[in-house]
Amino acid sequence: MSPHCGQRVTEPKAKSGVITSSWNRWAMAGASAGLVALIVVVTVGSLVTSNAARRSALAIRVASAYGHAAAAIAAEESLERKYRLQPGPDPRAGHAAAEASLDHSMHQVAVLGGSPDRNLAKVVLREHAAYVAASALLFRSVDRHDPVAVTNAIDVRTVDPVFGAMEGQVYNAAAKHEAMALRAGASVSEIGRFVLLIDLVTLLAAIGLVAGGAVVVTRYQRDLHLESEQNRHQALHDPLTDLPNRALFQDRTGVALRAAARVSATVAVLLLDLNRFKEVNDTLGHQYGDYLLLQVADRLRGCLRDSDSVARLGGDEFAILLPISGWEEALAATQRVDAALHNPFSMHDITLDVDASIGIALAEPGDDVETLLRHADVAMYEAKAAHHTFARYEASRDDNDVSRLVLLGDLRRGIAAGELTLHYQPKISTRTGAMTSVEALVRWQHPTLGLLPPDEFIPLAENTAIIHSLTTEVLHLALSQARKWADTGRPTPVAVNISTRSLLDPRFPAHVQDLLDAHGVAPSLLCLELTETAVMADHDLALTVLRSLDSMGVSLSIDDFGTGYSSMAYLKTLPVKELKIDRTFVMGMANDPDSAVIVRSAVDLGHNLGMTVVAEGVEDSTTRSDLNDMGCDLVQGYQICRPIPAKELERWIETYLVINSSRSPIVHSHEKVSGNGQAGEAPGAG
Ligand code: C2E
Ligand code: CA
Ligand code: CA
Repeated sequence: MSPHCGQRVTEPKAKSGVITSSWNRWAMAGASAGLVALIVVVTVGSLVTSNAARRSALAIRVASAYGHAAAAIAAEESLERKYRLQPGPDPRAGHAAAEASLDHSMHQVAVLGGSPDRNLAKVVLREHAAYVAASALLFRSVDRHDPVAVTNAIDVRTVDPVFGAMEGQVYNAAAKHEAMALRAGASVSEIGRFVLLIDLVTLLAAIGLVAGGAVVVTRYQRDLHLESEQNRHQALHDPLTDLPNRALFQDRTGVALRAAARVSATVAVLLLDLNRFKEVNDTLGHQYGDYLLLQVADRLRGCLRDSDSVARLGGDEFAILLPISGWEEALAATQRVDAALHNPFSMHDITLDVDASIGIALAEPGDDVETLLRHADVAMYEAKAAHHTFARYEASRDDNDVSRLVLLGDLRRGIAAGELTLHYQPKISTRTGAMTSVEALVRWQHPTLGLLPPDEFIPLAENTAIIHSLTTEVLHLALSQARKWADTGRPTPVAVNISTRSLLDPRFPAHVQDLLDAHGVAPSLLCLELTETAVMADHDLALTVLRSLDSMGVSLSIDDFGTGYSSMAYLKTLPVKELKIDRTFVMGMANDPDSAVIVRSAVDLGHNLGMTVVAEGVEDSTTRSDLNDMGCDLVQGYQICRPIPAKELERWIETYLVINSSRSPIVHSHEKVSGNGQAGEAPGAG
């Protein structure tokens, strides 16, 4: 069966957050890489450029030194010639300056140039020194007006040959270095242009990456914002119907209460619970259940005013908040809601009639959200119990009644919230002292009232359908404990108290079977205790239910025996194996002869019917020994052990086993007492 029912159930969200966040990381990495690349390229570029510029500057300085040397050589040549033609102090001084300039320039070449330049400088300086010496002779010969000596000095004393060699070398080197300096200059500007280009390209790429990164990061932030909005929505709304959930409803009710207080208006809360919803879920499946809830939500939305607000509190429970000025408005809204649910719900291939119980509570001055909701809950429960469409909460009703209903509301939630726990009390063989089984006794850990004994809530629950969920919960707890004990190698039969309503429910045996199956517990480990009065409430029905339970292998016990009016003839027809004498008689035995007579005859009656007889409420060893004398099979009571949590019971058993080590630890079948064996005092006796 796969109707379209489930269609609106929200799809699980794609992991958009994960994707965006990985994109975000990539974007950040890209932008950072872009910036790093930009810095690296600019740094390397400027290093390369400055290196080339440095090399070019050096080449220019070397070339310029060579240039100066060449100029000095040219000056020496021309001044030497001038001196020969027109001797005088000026050409002589000029020549000396040119000599100094050449030496200086060649020293500079040696300092600035590479090793070929240093070698050349050495050679030129040596040749220049020779030339300077030869030219000095020449000038002196000119001063003496000795043409022969002059000619000799020029030719023979090698002025000209020395000069010629030096001149050629310097001119060549100067020309070569000038060309080199030009080339270096050209390469500097080329490198500069290239580096600029690379810088520009990298800058553009980095700008692109940073801008891209910024876009992705902005988008990511927007997604994050959207996602947090969605999360907020999800936290405050029911995922199925998208209606506000309990938290949001409470919040809105609080706001409405404060607003109403200011304008002396009021607020009503309608609590609506569908009546046969569980059946829909159980028989048609959850998809139909969900689809029904969706349709109910739509109809509720449709029939309310804009100022009203509807929420799904959970399961099949809806709440409606109405800002109103008086009861009539609340009543009118309730009637609209009732009318909205009146038409059958069509679901794919079937139509369903569904009605609801509505509790109405009007806020009284000083009421807080919790009180208002609780009142609506009480009223809703009243409507349900009375089979009315709606009921209004009336504070004027008897206080007891109110607190009773309030407690009922709490109990309903407490069961669902797992606030029930079980205490266990052993039943032991009167004769041998061996533990045969335990009785599970419910306790309610109330959030504000503390641990409540069953007498404070079972009688209330028994008047309403809550007893069914209570019995289910107790059976579930008892069977999971029985399963644990069986798993640890100490299978212990557990007795569970069953109220009249459960006993008179024809579906009860099947329900018990389901629970046994679910927990994988053998039926022989479960005993159900039912009161005489419960059985007498509807003989025939009780008999049918008891027979099916018996045929399943579950054992049955008549509880509180002696307080009802069942006849021996009737008891005989019941498939019951155990009779529990009511504790009031057992506790009265010691002081009240009538009680002792009743106990004795109950023991005899039980044995005549072939039943095991249990005396509960055994508080002292005298009573216990009297019961032994009477032949009562099993005893249960504070003298042996108070009802205690499972863990404590396990410790109790350990101690009990040590003290009773001569006896068999646990007997699984009820034994009949024939002799007068004396049972020992047990630890934990209170
Ligand atoms: P009950 O079935 O007759 O359970 C025996 C009650 O007697 C228990 O009280 C137990 O604590 C008490 N008791 C045991 N030994 C002694 C003793 O030596 N002296 C005295 N004075 N009392 C003793 P508890 O636990 O308060 O339960 C009270 C009643 O509540 C039970 O009476 C039973 O009728 C009902 N009840 C307990 N648990 C459940 C449950 O899970 N479902 C239903 N439907 N009823 C329950
Ligand atoms: Ca009982
Ligand atoms: Ca009892």
